[in-house]
Amino acid sequence: MTVIPKSHPRAKSLLIREKLVNGFDKGLVAKEGLLAQGRGEAFDYLLGEKTGKTAKKAIKAAAAQIILANTPVISVNGNIAALCPRKIVKLAKTTGAKIEVNLFYHNEKRKQNIVNALKKNGAREILGIDQKFKAKLQGIDSARRIVDKNGILAADVVVVPLEDGDRTLALRKSGKTVITFDLNPLSRTSQTANITIVDNVTRAIDILIKECKKLSVKKPSSLQKMVDDFDNKKNLSENIIEIKNNLSRRLKIA
Ligand code: ATP
Ligand code: MG
Repeated sequence: MTVIPKSHPRAKSLLIREKLVNGFDKGLVAKEGLLAQGRGEAFDYLLGEKTGKTAKKAIKAAAAQIILANTPVISVNGNIAALCPRKIVKLAKTTGAKIEVNLFYHNEKRKQNIVNALKKNGAREILGIDQKFKAKLQGIDSARRIVDKNGILAADVVVVPLEDGDRTLALRKSGKTVITFDLNPLSRTSQTANITIVDNVTRAIDILIKECKKLSVKKPSSLQKMVDDFDNKKNLSENIIEIKNNLSRRLKIA
């Protein structure tokens, strides 16, 4: 493992990258997952590597939506399992959401490694591994449409961090409310989800957990109002403006 000194100007970003590389070595992350991380890093750089006001607005709406859900499910892939397994388990416990392991690049061995990593971090029940409960999501080609009958198939709200656009669209077509974390405000997932948190999942998830705790005492009607008042398209435009402003600031400094 490479030692990254805390004083390194890009220490935080390098530490996140290191988690992905370790996850790859441990058989959690797919090769393609490393590339997805690279794309995310580029957008994080443009965002200034901080949680902006617009992301915070999306996090609030997401928390309200998760609390209102009857059967929320968090979909976990290799990147998430490598980046923040403990926090995912904490989010599930805080909100009563189920956890389903669901891979874009399907591989039974990798799935099992992810399950083990989640269990090590305190997860009890994990869906998506029992062949008996395999079900198919409509509107997407065969290998990528497998979901758990008691998990994503039955869910009303699905949290899909770092998801692919085709799958997000399939989830929407099957009537799910989709919440995503995606650093790229222009990706198909960002544009298709109901609520897109444009932030690094490693930063945003802590804020989401806090917000879920804070909002859990609110009346359903006021939570519903928060969800109804949230406009994802508008929020994404504001994210792009945040990126533009950040870049303008950088230009002035240079
Ligand atoms: P889409 O299929 O939605 O158009 P894409 O094909 O560009 O997106 P994918 O590899 O399918 O990209 O999805 C991965 C997404 O996850 C990318 O948009 C990337 O920016 C984002 N991403 C990667 N790492 C992180 C991270 N740590 N936090 C949040 N988002 C991330
Ligand atoms: Mg994609």
